[in-house]
Amino acid sequence: MTKKQIDNLIDKLIIENGTVNPIDIIKRNNIQVIYHFDSFKGVCVKIPGDCTYISIRENLDTLDKFFTLAHELYHALIDFKNDYPYQIKPFSQESCVSETRANYFAYKLLLKQDENILEDFYNENPNIEKNIEKIINNLANRGL
Ligand SMILES: [Zn+2]
Repeated sequence: MTKKQIDNLIDKLIIENGTVNPIDIIKRNNIQVIYHFDSFKGVCVKIPGDCTYISIRENLDTLDKFFTLAHELYHALIDFKNDYPYQIKPFSQESCVSETRANYFAYKLLLKQDENILEDFYNENPNIEKNIEKIINNLANRGL
C-alpha cells in the first residue's frame, strides 16, 4: 500500500464507521481487544473460523494505547484480510515495510482526532513531537 492508499483507507474507515476513534473502529469491525502483561506493546492474531484479536499491554499510557491499537488495526484490516493466519515472518523485509505502513496509518489516524484529545496526548507525552518526527524520518528512509 502506498501512502496515498493508506490515506484513502483512513478516509473510507472514518466514513464507514462514523468515527475517528480507533477503539470504536475496532469494535465495529468485530475485532476483539484483549490485554496482556508481557513486554511487547501489541500483537494481532487472526484465528481461522474465529475472529481477529488485538492484544495490547495492560499498562500503556493513553497515547501509547491509542497508537498501538491503531497500528494493530492496520495489520488486522490489511495484513489479515484473507482468512488465514498472518504469514509475514518477523524481521523480514516484508515485515519491516508492513510495520512502517502500520506506523504511518496510526500516525495519520492520530492527526484526525479532535483537538482536545490531541492536546491531552501532548500534555501526557511531551516527547510526542520527537516520536512523530522519528516515524516520519523512518517512512522517508523507506521511500514511503
Ligand atoms: Zn506491527
